[in-house]
Amino acid sequence: MIRVTENLRKIRDLLAKAAVDAGRDPASVRLLAVSKKKPVSLILEAAAAGQHDFGENFVQEGLEKIAQAGREDLQWHFIGHLQSNKTRAVAEQFHWVHTVDRLKTAQRLSRQRPASMGALNICLQVNIDSEPGKSGSSEDDLPQLARQVATLPGLRLRGLMCLPAQHDSFEAQREPFARLRAHAASLRAEGIDVDTLSMGMSHDYRAAIFEGSTMVRIGTAIFGER
Ligand SMILES: *Cc1c(COP(=O)(O)O)cnc(C)c1O
Repeated sequence: MIRVTENLRKIRDLLAKAAVDAGRDPASVRLLAVSKKKPVSLILEAAAAGQHDFGENFVQEGLEKIAQAGREDLQWHFIGHLQSNKTRAVAEQFHWVHTVDRLKTAQRLSRQRPASMGALNICLQVNIDSEPGKSGSSEDDLPQLARQVATLPGLRLRGLMCLPAQHDSFEAQREPFARLRAHAASLRAEGIDVDTLSMGMSHDYRAAIFEGSTMVRIGTAIFGER
């Protein structure tokens, strides 16, 4: 039996403590509950406990859960790899996409976003450890990609996202997050107004919060092992 309500309370306390330890306002860190491979019943339990933002990795699974949950008040974040032939449904159903790493995908999302829904919130995924085969823009390509995405009418460029290689030590965990934060600062310095750093998961949220994360993506600590 997974105790979602209790897990949420615990993780909120831990996030708030990490923020205070980092000298930050706990309200500046938003919790994204990653519900991939978990049933809608647990999502609704989390929603009843005040959770508002949910992250899904797979288009079809996410669409089914959005429909089944039937809750206009929840915000749905797409955080998986997005193939360009699946952009339409994401543009029509989700509120955020955290994993844009190519202009072509961004252009499709922008074109396919219904005007009535307002701009789709976008984070650019950066392959921050230059891992072969991993999704994400290279650090070198990021500034140009950001400039181009920022001009697309159906999108609102909100910030950057990364999924670093696993490290056990706190200091090693901080290093890639610090680089992502520096990239966001460079974009702001050239007038691209990003406000979001989507970084940190169940095992490294503390390091991410110390480096300025504004949105942590937590699955296991809320919903249990997958
Ligand atoms: C699954 C996933 C998470 C959540 O990971 P946990 O370790 O379960 O907290 C966060 N971000 C992305 C992109 C994921 O795919």
